[in-house]
Amino acid sequence: MKKTCIQCQTEMIDDCKVTVEGDTPGMIISQKRKGSFNHVSAKTKASVCPNCGFVALYIDEFKEFKQL
Ligand SMILES: [Zn+2]
Repeated sequence: MKKTCIQCQTEMIDDCKVTVEGDTPGMIISQKRKGSFNHVSAKTKASVCPNCGFVALYIDEFKEFKQL
């Protein structure tokens, strides 16, 4: 699924790596849950707009996240 820039409607470049400056390897998004699966987590990726430089963060494992 291609993303479109919300600023200028240009097709965005997916799968860019997010790295926090310093010694942290990227950003992890996680959700705490009750029950057998205690939490889910996913590594953050970014889409970059090659036209205006807008950056959108996303994860591939979004289906594992649920409304509590
Ligand atoms: Zn843009």
